[in-house]
Amino acid sequence: MITGDAQGRSRERSQALEAEAALVIPGAVNSNFRLSTAPPHRFWESAQGSRLTDVDGNEFIDYVLGMGSAVLGHSPAPLLSRVADAQDLLQCPAGQQRAEVELARKITSLLPSAELVRVGCTGSEMVHLAFRLARAATGRPLVVKFEGHYHGWYDSTFSGTTSLPPPGEFGAPVQSAGQSPGALADLAVLPWNDLELLNAFVGARGHEVAAIIMEPVLCNTSVILPREGYLEGVRKLCDEHGIVLIFDEVITGFRLAAGGAQAMLGVTPDLTVLGKALGAGFPIAGLAGRSSLMQLLASGAVMHGGTYNGNAMAVAAAVAALDALSDKDKAVHARLRHVGELLVEGLERLSSGGTGSLSVQGVGPVFNTAFDPPGPITDCRSYLASNLSKQLAFISALDAEGVRVTSRGTWFVSTAHTEADVELTLEAADRALRRIS
Ligand code: PMP
Repeated sequence: MITGDAQGRSRERSQALEAEAALVIPGAVNSNFRLSTAPPHRFWESAQGSRLTDVDGNEFIDYVLGMGSAVLGHSPAPLLSRVADAQDLLQCPAGQQRAEVELARKITSLLPSAELVRVGCTGSEMVHLAFRLARAATGRPLVVKFEGHYHGWYDSTFSGTTSLPPPGEFGAPVQSAGQSPGALADLAVLPWNDLELLNAFVGARGHEVAAIIMEPVLCNTSVILPREGYLEGVRKLCDEHGIVLIFDEVITGFRLAAGGAQAMLGVTPDLTVLGKALGAGFPIAGLAGRSSLMQLLASGAVMHGGTYNGNAMAVAAAVAALDALSDKDKAVHARLRHVGELLVEGLERLSSGGTGSLSVQGVGPVFNTAFDPPGPITDCRSYLASNLSKQLAFISALDAEGVRVTSRGTWFVSTAHTEADVELTLEAADRALRRIS
């Protein structure tokens, strides 16, 4: 049962802790994405399955799930016991251990593009490594990314999400005070899902382009699918011009299918960035790819380091997560899709029932809500034309109902979510939509 008053869930203890935190932690948060004002800040006490409980004792059905990491739900018992066993033996040897080999084997057996694998701790650093490998392999400087695609917060990538280049220009704008404009000189930001425009850009500047990076399903902006033929077209273009194609599957990897979006959509990149579902809540990320590229690391020609890379707890978590997600009969992903689709269909029914101009899009295991879009949402700019303040009002109203969704309106589903969760969520969403309409 969801506890607490739907109209005003107490935040007394959260607020007291937030005031204390602000004295010792800038902004009272450890990631700027948590500075967001909607839904209200809470301090979390415990989590189990699909539920998250705050320090005031309010329970939430959680669709944030560690920004998509907790694909098996919170605190999955088989995974936690594998982590506990691993940490009893050793934690951080700064050297090799057996489980690293087991993990790399699992990844290469699941992911179409993976011949060799390295692991680190965060998606941002593995993107950094992917760029380095692509530049080393091609001897070219430029990386092409797309509007609304997020590839981490590092100087050389953090652009084209909160700030876009003027229409028709492709220079990468600085998005943070203190960010090095020099680091962005080798990044171009293009609109996504527009093959003609990309063809023209590569036709003119292909000799400068080391890599094209994208989220194969655009999960950081409204969960947008590639247009039919787009990924195939980009793959062909990269082959023709000797450009490294990087899929950032930090969200989609192991979530959309055991083989990620690349298996689902049938297009194989040269390099794949992995994270989130890989560790099911533990800090581990990966870079997998073609042997000819990844082997550049073997000689030491291309540098990759990290004190915590391959630490025993994270590797054990990843091995356990992939055991759970690599089921041969595909039942786990069928279940994720089923529960996600029940939610999507239910929300669409509510919208067509007249309680909101809500548009829902995505693929079952991850989808997005948007309000009053003037037309189909096919890229970043068409999403930004939707009613973003209504989106925030909806998220806040859901919070008051005990349903937690990311502040950008992205919903992640886990294997722990049940049909009963869906029913409670849709009742809450109905009330939330009535309140904001
Ligand atoms: N790529 C994508 C697609 C992501 O969604 C994220 C994180 N949200 C990252 C990269 C960066 O990963 P991390 O936060 O682990 O650095």
